[in-house]
Amino acid sequence: MLKRILFSGALLVCGFYSGSAQQIPAWQQLASQPAREQCATMQMDSALRAKYPEMGSRAAFEKTLQERIEQIKKLERTGRLADVVLTIPVVVHVVHAGEAVGTGRNISEAQVKAQLETLNEDFRRKPGTRGFNDNPNGADIEIEFCLAAINPTGGTITERGIDRINGASNFGKSTWSKADIDGVLKPNTFWDPEKYFNIWVVDFAASDDRLLGYAQFPSQSTLPGLSPNSGAGSTDGVVIRYQSFGNAEKGNFPVMQAPYNLGRTLTHEVGHWLGLIHIWGDANCGNDFVDDTPTQASESRGCQKGRVSCGGTNMVENYMDYSDDACFNIFTRGQKTRMRAVMEVALRRANLVNANVCGTSVVARPTANFRAENLRVLLGGQVRFTDLSTNFPTSWTWTFEGGTPSSSTEQNPVVTYNQPGKFRVTLVASNAAGSSAPFVREQYIEVLNVGLCADQTNFSGTRTVLRQPGGTGYVAGQNSRKTKAVSEFFDNSLSYNNMHGASLRFGVAKAAKGAETESIVTVTVWNARGFQNGPGAVLETKEVPLRTILEDVANNRATSIVFDRNVPLSGLPFHIGIELTYVAGDTVALTTTRDGESLLGTSWEQNANGEWERYRVRQGLNVAHEITARVGMKPSVQLTASKQFVLPGEPVTLNARGASIFSWAGQNLSSTLGGQVIARPTQTTSYTVTGSGLDLCNATATARIYVQPGTITGVPTALPDEALTVSPNPSDGLTAVSFRNTSRGILTLSVRNVAGVEVLKQQYQKTDDGFEKTLDLRTMPSGLYNIEIRVGEQVVRKKVVKY
Ligand SMILES: [Zn+2]
Repeated sequence: MLKRILFSGALLVCGFYSGSAQQIPAWQQLASQPAREQCATMQMDSALRAKYPEMGSRAAFEKTLQERIEQIKKLERTGRLADVVLTIPVVVHVVHAGEAVGTGRNISEAQVKAQLETLNEDFRRKPGTRGFNDNPNGADIEIEFCLAAINPTGGTITERGIDRINGASNFGKSTWSKADIDGVLKPNTFWDPEKYFNIWVVDFAASDDRLLGYAQFPSQSTLPGLSPNSGAGSTDGVVIRYQSFGNAEKGNFPVMQAPYNLGRTLTHEVGHWLGLIHIWGDANCGNDFVDDTPTQASESRGCQKGRVSCGGTNMVENYMDYSDDACFNIFTRGQKTRMRAVMEVALRRANLVNANVCGTSVVARPTANFRAENLRVLLGGQVRFTDLSTNFPTSWTWTFEGGTPSSSTEQNPVVTYNQPGKFRVTLVASNAAGSSAPFVREQYIEVLNVGLCADQTNFSGTRTVLRQPGGTGYVAGQNSRKTKAVSEFFDNSLSYNNMHGASLRFGVAKAAKGAETESIVTVTVWNARGFQNGPGAVLETKEVPLRTILEDVANNRATSIVFDRNVPLSGLPFHIGIELTYVAGDTVALTTTRDGESLLGTSWEQNANGEWERYRVRQGLNVAHEITARVGMKPSVQLTASKQFVLPGEPVTLNARGASIFSWAGQNLSSTLGGQVIARPTQTTSYTVTGSGLDLCNATATARIYVQPGTITGVPTALPDEALTVSPNPSDGLTAVSFRNTSRGILTLSVRNVAGVEVLKQQYQKTDDGFEKTLDLRTMPSGLYNIEIRVGEQVVRKKVVKY
């Protein structure tokens, strides 16, 4: 396929230029071919970071990397940098479909060896090979690759560095798309990425048949909650098409296809795996963050020697270009510094050089080493330790100063810290050859004097209600620019998992219909996966009566809310804010700090077009909203009321969650115990539930029910919550709805999105107690939806989350 495209492309050019074809340099003919998707590293990087936000951004990694690069350059200038050759153990997963060894996709051991030899020639700039150059900027990277001799359980590998995988019998696939490789193949076949550099050699599926390979960029995995061998760790490595893995000059390998048959696809992808970017910076005259590679307009094809772009002669021989294999021969000194820095700052890379799995057998004692999942924890928090000792230890002796337990013999223990301070951790690892020296990390774990339940705010300063500059209304509320919503960003740096409530301080609240208003204000929680950490999908909403806010503003206090459930934060950043409506003529505005009192740019607004922007960017204001998030590692008691405005004596169902035993206080309750009670208030009342029986962050929750004068007519009766179950929830959109009660007749099933818009409505005839339906929201955007089932005057609602 690839050959055919190359051939027809060249023919077209020849035909067009007819007789003068020989005057056209070969590279111009090649450059006029349709662009090939040769290397998918950049594309896969974006997808991976979207899937695992805890990897952090490439920009953040670049910052750490540049700091280390500057240090290395300084050491080089003073001659204080010792030259050490780093050796990286490799496992090549040869993915075949049942062919005999050495045939077709099941490439021979000789082909694998030829490839590794080529990789080392290129990385060591070895004289007398294609990997040599005499460019003054050309560098010996001083990194070598060895084929592993020991497998992850300490056994000897018969064909060194090779793991043959029958894709057909194990996964039912003989050809592989990128999605299947990263979703199925890699997570099921990877070897510990801190001991082995994983390379998969595959036959790409037809959808990817223009692809030669792709790599996973290095990342910092020091963020809390990110286990190095899960998430992005399970896909770390390089994928190469089998027709381009090897070197046709080093043996008879008939499956290899020119012009990508000299093993340089792997050199290119290992460059990415060690942090290098394409030489053209993936943009027109873009930046590859290396200062001795010439700027280049775009990828080169064929071998465009002497190509000029971006005001200079390009380096088409650089492995990070798209030239043919035979054209390549150089990594620069700047690229070397970058790769060597990656070997220090990227954790999975750094540990590889100590893996010691290329030796022939386990004869030496272990060298103890370990890492903690997180170095800072909350008081009462837990830390998981990961053994990184070499030489396949069989027993471990850990000592944890300040921890519970204070010692352990597990390989990867979990320890709880109940006192603040900085604590030492010690490990001795042993195998049949003996015990290691104790490995000690002093003051390794820092336990903060902050609990598992906390109030977090960015507000610190002078309480202010900012007027809209050059318009009417308020910056953090309704205004003449028709701001749709405002939010406050919380970085959640201590990785809280739950939010049970929030408090928001309003400086202004006016109701067009006066004190008896039934208007509501929506408080919303978003994840921070929007553009530049802006608000993304809605995690939860809570409707607050404007009357509550009027009372709170009049009494000069913040408005406290309890969400209907523990909002799952998953340890990630989030936003809390209010959504603004303009129809009723009501007005609200949050208080903020004074301009200049907050420099972190945590306040955001959604403009009239629905786009989110920071205040700092849009309006040049450095403020923080007065919003507090009630967060915790443990659950809290949650309270839902079926209505907030009722007529005197009208029933309201109150549901409590989060604990095992509940007690209630308030007027006219059907019971003072249990998870669900019916209240029939005759005047406006606050109902409070107290939970017990579990370790909780907050044991109480309150709901205020407003009573209107009038009589009861035709008001729907709320059914008990248990009448409706939705599972799974959260879901990918496909979820089963199950409703049970004794009523019969027309049943209406409707679904509304968070904006209250009905997105689905269906009617059925209910003829017995049970009603089951599969709901398909897969074509709808991610977020929160409200499901309602109504039979006659009876109604039940449930929130569902689509991720
Ligand atoms: Zn590439």
